Amino acid sequence: MSDVEVPVLIVGGSLVGMSTALLLGSHGIRSLAVEHHRGTAIHPRAAQISQRTMEILRSVGIEEIVRRRSDEQFVQDGAIMAVETLAGREIGYFIANLNEGIRDVSPTERVFISQSLLEPLLKTRAEELGAELRFATELIAFDQDQHGVKALIRHRDTGHTDNVRASYMVAADGAHSRTRKALGIPMEGRGVFSNSATIYFRADVAPLLRGRNLSVIYVTNPALRGFFRFEKPFNRGFLAVNAVGDPANPVTDVTTGLTEARCLEWIRVALGSSDIPIAIDNVMTWNAEANSAARYESGRVFLAGDAAHAMPPNGGFGGNTGVQDAHNLAWKLAMVLRGEAGSELLSTYDAERRPVGAFTTEQAYSRYVTRTAPHLDSSGIEPVAPDLNVELGYRYESAAICHDTDPGPPHDNPRESKGCPGMRAPHVWLDRRGERISTLDLFGERFVLLAGADATSWCESAQVVGDHAKIPIDVHRVGPGDLDDPDGAFPGAYDFTPRDAMLVRPDGFVGWRSKTPAGSPSAIAGALAQLTFRNALVS
Ligand SMILES: Cc1cc2nc3c(=O)[nH]c(=O)nc-3n(C[C@H](O)[C@H](O)[C@H](O)COP(=O)(O)OP(=O)(O)OC[C@H]3O[C@@H](n4cnc5c(N)ncnc54)[C@H](O)[C@@H]3O)c2cc1C
Repeated sequence: MSDVEVPVLIVGGSLVGMSTALLLGSHGIRSLAVEHHRGTAIHPRAAQISQRTMEILRSVGIEEIVRRRSDEQFVQDGAIMAVETLAGREIGYFIANLNEGIRDVSPTERVFISQSLLEPLLKTRAEELGAELRFATELIAFDQDQHGVKALIRHRDTGHTDNVRASYMVAADGAHSRTRKALGIPMEGRGVFSNSATIYFRADVAPLLRGRNLSVIYVTNPALRGFFRFEKPFNRGFLAVNAVGDPANPVTDVTTGLTEARCLEWIRVALGSSDIPIAIDNVMTWNAEANSAARYESGRVFLAGDAAHAMPPNGGFGGNTGVQDAHNLAWKLAMVLRGEAGSELLSTYDAERRPVGAFTTEQAYSRYVTRTAPHLDSSGIEPVAPDLNVELGYRYESAAICHDTDPGPPHDNPRESKGCPGMRAPHVWLDRRGERISTLDLFGERFVLLAGADATSWCESAQVVGDHAKIPIDVHRVGPGDLDDPDGAFPGAYDFTPRDAMLVRPDGFVGWRSKTPAGSPSAIAGALAQLTFRNALVS
């Protein structure tokens, strides 16, 4: 046995644990992620990657490689739709083209890339940024006190154990999170409504696609409800099966007694063809559920990803929501560990992410009920909100936001958020000395003071306060000589006059915006004190 000291221990090295390690690394914070499996994901699972996740990946320098790899695997810009069978009648389209009508809101696009391809890219970048990832290694036990977390980890093959001392621990150990259970945090919500199966198979389905570009194909017929996803060149994919038999009174435990013959039969029924040779590669079982953890935090331990919220895959929100958890938590841990923020900042992780997680889980449930489970009562479900609002328009309400109006509903159209505190700062294309950048490219590492063309006094004040507080602040003026606004879109998108200013947090969310025309150090100091829980900044 030996001792390991690390600022942050991460339990689980799949999509969310790996993202946490990567994002901490981008803030210069070392972490150790332990993962039970012997390598990155072998099952494709999550593939629909939202614009928000792509924005986050852009901020850590891997947007381009992710796009390239996604193109190798999937045809992009496909539809999300429903059929009776792939060969048969189309029922309807939920989204006709994944990126149509949404390209203006982000410098990025939605892509399809499976976890099995994405995770190695996250891993490489996380390691470049100093993260340590140990596979075939599990968390055995942990304990915490006011000074930190002590954990025992063990290599599954060698049996070698290590004592780990960390300041904080992030539990990204999945829907069955043992960490969450050990902390006594219950899950709340709608429970488990299906024991589902994902059947990975090979078959030449190109003739049945008939040239249609389909990303997710819901199958709804009297025999089964579920969905298909196919990879290029349309000779492999999966069928997820949620329910079989009578749609009004179906069998929702499809996993008990599952045989290869039954899997083959379901695939044939869903394809609507018995003529195509099929080879089954693998079957994975999982629970369709819609539940959220009652708390995301217990002392120095934080839940992220499926450990915090387990939702059905309908909408493609689960993994993306977990990446957003990691993004929200990473800068807070970094600032607290560096002594730039008070430890109370960490409590805003639960305050901000739990309502968003619960809202998104309900949205996934509403899509599950309306798309795939006619037997479930739809009277008590939330109306389906636009995917764009769920992905880019989620709102934070916490003490780490200087709200200047009543915080509105948990989501908004990102085109209407207008730089309101608690919302993601909008995307606008700008020109920086001949280079085309997005406003979003200004965010990621530090607080940013974003100022209108005539707001030079705000810029000077921010510099003074940042230097005094030893909190690095990047200062940007949108106006000639600094950042040009070639399309004149910035004032409208941010509801800005040339004399306005705002503080954007390192996660790209607006923390504060000015209410007075002339910048003063005390106004910036007051805002920064609230955003970082550093009361001493206000003299
Ligand atoms: C069929 C299907 C399709 C989906 N499609 C999408 C999609 O298109 N888009 C999307 O966003 N989401 C999708 N999802 C959801 C997505 O797969 C999950 O939300 C995501 O994988 C959660 O990642 P995670 O890292 O939180 O948890 P997991 O992927 O469950 O990872 C947890 C990890 O923790 C490890 N672990 C557990 N306990 C320990 C321990 N004690 N020590 C060490 N390691 C431990 C496990 O081995 C595991 O690898 C889909 C899900 C399914 C089932």
